[in-house]
Formats: sequence, C-alpha cells, structure tokens
Amino acid sequence: MAKKYVYFFGGGKAEGSAEMKDLLGGKGANLAEMSSLGIPVPPGFTITTEVCTYFMETGGKYPKELKKEFDNALSKVEKIMNLRFGDSQNPLLFSVRSGARISMPGMMETVLNIGLTEKTIPGLIAKSGNERFVYDAYRRLIMMYSDVVMEKAAGIEPKEGKSIREQLEKELQKMKDSKGVKDDTELDVEDLKKLIKIFKKKVKQVLKKDFPDDPEEQLWGAIAAVFQSWNGKKAVSYRKIENIPDKWGTAVTVQTMVFGNMGENSGTGVAFTRDPATGENKFYGEFLVNAQGEDVVAGVRTPQAINEASKATTAKNLPSLEELMPDIYKQLEDIRKKLEKHYLDMQDLEFTIQEGKLFMLQTRTGKRNGPAAVRMTVEMCQEHLIDEKTAILRVKPEQLDELLHPVLDPKSERKAEVLAKGLPAGPGGGVGQIVFTADEAEKWAEQGKQVILVRDETSPEDVHGMRVAAAILTAKGGMTSHAALVARGWGKCCVVGCSDLNVDAVKKTLSVGGKILKEGDWISLNGTHGIVYNGKLPLLPADPEKNIYYQTLMKWADKFRKLGIRTNADNPKDSKLARSFGAEGIGLCRTEHMFFGPERIMAMREMILAEDEAGRKKALKKLLPYQRRDFIGIFKAMDGLPVTIRTLDPPLHEFLPNDNASQKEMADQLNVPVKRIKEMVQNLHELNPMLGHRGCRLGISYPEITAMQVQAIMEAACHVAKQGIKVYPEIMIPLVGTKEELENQKKIVTETAEMVMKKTGVRVKYLVGTMIEIPRAALTADKVAEVAEFFSFGTNDLTQMTFGYSRDDAGKFLPEYVSKGILPSDPFQTLDQEGVGQLVEMGIKKGRSTCPELKVGICGEHGGDPASIDFCHRVGMNYVSCSPFRVPIARLAAAHAAIKKH
Ligand code: PEP
Ligand code: MG
Repeated sequence: MAKKYVYFFGGGKAEGSAEMKDLLGGKGANLAEMSSLGIPVPPGFTITTEVCTYFMETGGKYPKELKKEFDNALSKVEKIMNLRFGDSQNPLLFSVRSGARISMPGMMETVLNIGLTEKTIPGLIAKSGNERFVYDAYRRLIMMYSDVVMEKAAGIEPKEGKSIREQLEKELQKMKDSKGVKDDTELDVEDLKKLIKIFKKKVKQVLKKDFPDDPEEQLWGAIAAVFQSWNGKKAVSYRKIENIPDKWGTAVTVQTMVFGNMGENSGTGVAFTRDPATGENKFYGEFLVNAQGEDVVAGVRTPQAINEASKATTAKNLPSLEELMPDIYKQLEDIRKKLEKHYLDMQDLEFTIQEGKLFMLQTRTGKRNGPAAVRMTVEMCQEHLIDEKTAILRVKPEQLDELLHPVLDPKSERKAEVLAKGLPAGPGGGVGQIVFTADEAEKWAEQGKQVILVRDETSPEDVHGMRVAAAILTAKGGMTSHAALVARGWGKCCVVGCSDLNVDAVKKTLSVGGKILKEGDWISLNGTHGIVYNGKLPLLPADPEKNIYYQTLMKWADKFRKLGIRTNADNPKDSKLARSFGAEGIGLCRTEHMFFGPERIMAMREMILAEDEAGRKKALKKLLPYQRRDFIGIFKAMDGLPVTIRTLDPPLHEFLPNDNASQKEMADQLNVPVKRIKEMVQNLHELNPMLGHRGCRLGISYPEITAMQVQAIMEAACHVAKQGIKVYPEIMIPLVGTKEELENQKKIVTETAEMVMKKTGVRVKYLVGTMIEIPRAALTADKVAEVAEFFSFGTNDLTQMTFGYSRDDAGKFLPEYVSKGILPSDPFQTLDQEGVGQLVEMGIKKGRSTCPELKVGICGEHGGDPASIDFCHRVGMNYVSCSPFRVPIARLAAAHAAIKKH
C-alpha cells in the first residue's frame, strides 16, 4: 500500500488515533483521538514523522505525493471552518507545531498565526471586529517567525543577548516603557502598528531579509523550520540525555488557529488532571486572560489559577478561571474526567478559550516527579482505574531516587537568610555555587564542583547545563514553564518564578533585595517550598518510611518480583539503612574497607612489612579483634538474613602510603627506617595491579590472612548465635579463575571454621562460595561449582577483563565511545548483555549443570541498575546486591522484570 503522509482531524472525526504516535507524534495522535472522542479540537492535519526522515535524508526535500495529500487535507479544514487560507475576506490562520513520539517539552519549535499578511489583515479585522487583537497576533507572528524560521532554521547563531527574539523583545519593552505601562495588553492599536513597523525594520536589518508577506511561503517556511528543529541544538542535547533515537523524527501538525487573545472573555492555559508536583487527585492548572499559549509557557506574565486548589502555588490574589468563567471551567472539568478515564493516566492539557468558547489544543501523559508518580499510581489503582501490575510499571525505578532525596536541614533553614521566594518546581534540597550559563554549569561540573544554574528564565537550550546542575533557579516562569517541566521530569530540585531576583548573565551577577551575589557564591534551594537561601546549608537524607504511597507500592512490587534483593555493605550503619530500605541480606561485605581505621591500618602495615609468617601472624592477631567486632555488629544488624563476606581482595600496596610525609609517619610509628618503607612500596609496585597479586592470590601466598579473617567471621557468628541471633555467614573467595584456587582457599576456610566451632562449642551453618569475576571462572564454572556452594558475579571485574578496559582508566575514553555510538552506554554502569552477559549466562548454566540448586547472585555495580536487573532476572539469578540507596530501585526494577513480557 502506498504510504500516507498526511492525516486529517476535526469535526468529530479523525484519520489517525492515539496508537499512531510513531507516525503522528504524541501531539498529532492525541489530537486525532480527542477529535474522535468528540472533544472540541480546532481542525487540522498532521504530516508524518516519515516525511521528517525523508526531509533530513534528502537535505530538505519532500516526497512528491505530499503536496496532493496536503492540499486535500487543507481543503477539508477550510470546508469545516468555512474559511480560506490566504483569503482577503474570510482568512484562515494556522499554527504549525512539532510532535515527537515521546514528548520533548519545548525542545522543538512552534509557529502561530500563520497566514496573516497585508492582504488578510483587513479581512480578519472586519470579521473579528477587533483591530487590536489582529495587530497583536501579527506582531507575535513576526517575533516567532523571525526567531524560528528566519534565524534558528537558517542556522544563524547570535551572540548571547543578541538573538532576534531578544532584540524584538527589547523593542516591545521600550514601547511599554515609553507608554508607562507594564503589560502587553495595555498597548493600543496605534502602539502595535508602530511596533510592527519597528519589528519589520529590525528583522530586515538583523537578518538581511524581509519578513514574508505570502501565506504559502509562511506556511511552508514554518513546516520546514519545525522539521529542522528536530536537529536543533537543544533537541539534540535532550535526546542524548533521554536516550531518544535520532532517527525517530518529528511530525508536524498544522492546525486552525484559535485565539486566546481576543479580549477579556478569551484566554489560554495549561492544566494537569492531577497535581504533577504532589500527585494529589486535584485538578491543577494555570491560565492567562487575553493571551496566547506562548505567554503561559514563557512566563512573561504571572498566570492565574484555574481553581482554588491551584492557588496554593500560583497567584493567590487573582481570580481563578472557576471564578471568572464558571461555565468554561465546568466544561474543562468534564473534559478532565473524560480524558483521564479514557487514557487511564494523568494528562497534561493545553486549552484556549476564544470569546467564551473552549478548545483543547493538546493532551498528553503528563510528566511528574518521583513522589507524585508514586502517589498517583497507587491512588489510581485504589480507584480501580488500573491494576497492580500496571501501577508498578508506571513508576520508573530511578524515580524512586527522588523519594530518597536529601532535603535542606529544617533547623538551619530557620536560621538561614532568605534571599527570595519562588515557585516549588522540583522537589528536595539543592546546594551549590552560582553559575549563570548552561555552558559554565557544564564546565564547573566537569571540575567536580556542585553548581546551581541561575537564569532569568531557562530556555530549552539550557538543558545540558540543567542536567549537570545540583539545582535550578529562575527569576521568571510558572509551574508549567520549561524549567519546571524539565526539572520535574528529572526529579531535580528547582525553584522558578522568583521575581525578586535580578539576573544579569553578562555581568554574572544576581541582585536581590539590595544584595549582589556573584558567580561562585553559594546558595541553597528548598525546591519543595520554593525558597532561596544565602549560603551553603546542610542537607539531610530523605525519610521514605513515612510515605504511605511509597510503602504501598513497594509492598506490591515485592509481591511480584522473583529476585531477592541484597545490599553491598561493610558496616552496621549501612547494613541497618539497607535493611530499612528492604534489603534481604548482604550480598557483598568488602572486608578491606574495615582495615582503614587509624589503628587498624597500622596493624595491617605491620603485617605487610613482616619478614616471615610468624611476623605476619603477630600483626594479624592485632587485626582479629577489630574484624570480629565489626562482624558482630553486622550480624546483629542483619539478624535472620544471610551475610556474604569476602576475604581480602585488593593488592597490598593499596594499604601503604605513597607520599614522603606519610611514609615518614609510618616509619616512626612502626619504629623502622623510612628506607625500609620505601623499599617495601617499591617491592609491592606492580605494572598492572588489578591483574596482579590480589584476590585469592593473596590468600594463597599468605594463608594466615584467610585464616585470620575466617576465624574472626566464625568467632563473631558463634558469639551472636549464642545470644539467639540467627546468623547465616557466607564466606566468599574473590578473583578465582580455577577450581584449584578455590579448593586451596576452601580448605583453609573449613579447617578454621571447624576449629572455631569446636573451641566455642557452637555450631553455625555457613557456606563457602566464590565470586565469578574472571572470564576463565565463567568458562569453567561447571568445575568451579564442584567446590563452590554459591556464585556471586563480580561484574565490575568481569567487565574490566572481558573488554580489556581498565576500571580505573576507562574514564579517559569511555565517554567518547558512548558519544560516538561505539558503545550504547558505559558498560561499567549498565551490563553489556551482548558480551559480558554471555559469560554470565554461561557461568550460571555451567554452574547449575554441576549443582542444580546453586545459589547465584550479582554484586558488581550493575546489581543496582534497572536494565541490568532485568537481565539478571531473565538469566535466572537468585538475587542482586547493590548499595543501600539503590535497594528500593532494585526492588521495583525486579518487579518490572517479573511483570514485563519478554
Ligand atoms: C566486582 O568486581 O564486580 C566486585 C563486586 O568486586 P570489586 O568491585 O570489589 O572488585
Ligand atoms: Mg572484583
């Protein structure tokens, strides 16, 4: 069948539907759906994403069949509206909008009021009887068109503050100043006419071209510019961050203009079917009287609430839509109910009221922050709109991070100097040094600094800086401004609409209440309440235990998941924290972390310096009580749950000091000459320490180390068992590549354990297993499993050794590999399923071929990464183990893996 490039909608009918997002983009598909549902939508048509791809591939051409389909759709619209495009008596005007299959808020372009020319202006004035409105619409067209089509799409990159839009905005401001007025709406017809002349002159002067006076030229210019905006800088950065493929392309929707700027009974707004900041089941939105959509999003004027509930976070002193236009509000409320029932999810709506008539311009699944996502999904399930499985899948595991978000310490907040108040656009607390541009934010963040990006208003061009910033602060903009939408989507701390701030990005200053702050000064934000503080306030960890929605969702997730969730922890405090997050045991206790306390490190160094076994044993004896005490604490914290403890892993040189001063200090403390220390450091130096004398190789060379550790583990276990604590130690040998290595170490473990149990008279059930982190261990896992009682995949080392990328040096080239598409992602963060994954799968299969009940887990960093957890589920692991803060994320990711159909 021939391809169809244009899909019409309007008059209660539509050629497309909500399912066709890939082809029509989210906006086009949902407009079609709304039209079919009988919701009032201005008629129009959508040009498919395939045309965008064609346009990109051919350097700006269109498929030849397009024109005919386009003309057909256009005539249908003209018929419904009883107007004609470019007609001098009954002119039809269009908006041209972008729409990708996943919403990319504000990242692409829109042009409104297309079709206004010297010829059509008088016709529209006669028809509308509203001269002021027509000239206002015309000056907006010039502003948008020159910005989007004549500057951005033409590839012109103006200097900071010199874009055509900014220059025209300055002219508008000048005009308002000269008239002594504050609002655009206070300019009269004559002012606007003058302004239009000034605008046209400025456009010609800056862009060296006349503003086009031909409707066709305007329309096709806008369509091409919107297609081109797919490859605009901001859209490209956003796609990279959100992992959206470049090849998808955008659709273009050409839609009949409806006007919110036709007077006091007109307006335009944005609403959410539930509160996107808290998730509460409350209709939430903002609107402006006598304005076009861009005014709401750009944050030029202060929006009014749609209802009483929305007044909490927006202008309290202005009347709401419900108060001003109760009938319209009632219709909107009905549409809200209809759409939520139809889409079964929170919707983000755009509407326009033209002279007392309501039109819906958009519906899409609304972005929400983590806490809101959790509350909404749980309540929707309790309202029987969705089932538990759907509810679980609605929350991205990473979004839970925000519930675990730190907040500013309230005690310090009470004492801190409040600089300003704004709108609470993104949750939690943020502390950082001020920077004024997205590029600076990126630069500073690369140097490891914590920054807060401060802008007058963030434009979507700033996304790369917003991404790396600890928090975002803007002087303008409402809860639905770009900054707010983007921050909310990422769950980033953000305060917008802080109108007391005076931001000068050129001078790099922020003045507020007579105070001037400079680049690099510290500020702190409370994103939950919209407060800006002077200075660096302390942050407190989050408290998800009090959140009933979170608790409910996690309970549901635990019902469905098959994977166990453990934690990587090596002290009682982290163990307790992880347990409170739902950890079901410890999957990796790195014992080397226990050797770094001031007294312990000395004993460790004494052991390393020892000339013989007797000397080493003497030093190890000093370490034993420390280790035992640590294990007692951990076993108590994990009462009733398994604890996997790994014997010493890193190369010994890591315990020795490298600089002269510390070497001298060590020599003094151990009462040996500095020369001796230097010799030892020299001796232990290895060219490739990660492939050198570490892991079980140390235990094989120095069996007394393994023996001391096992003695400490088992003495601790027997001690707590006597007190009635249920203890399940699992002793794990690292870096095994052959069965014989494991055999060697297992013998020491069992002999020592037996010795301790005999001595203490307590028997404790324990296991001896191994890490699988060397490719050879995976390849010979059937043999290794003859000795091992469990496997734990150490995918950090396994990734290092499979790729041959040093874990410690790969940072030099991996970002480039990812940005050039050589690797889809950093394999140390997300498991390389294609390569490393084969070894994991093979290791499990071979291991279980010897020992069908073999318990298998993962304790590399990948154990907390949702995509990798999905893989672990599929290959039949028993558990994943990750850092305490990732435990809830892993629980939810494991439920997703179990529910999703693969
Ligand atoms: C691993 O290699 O995946 C692992 C967990 O051990 P470490 O990171 O301590 O080398
Ligand atoms: Mg390792």
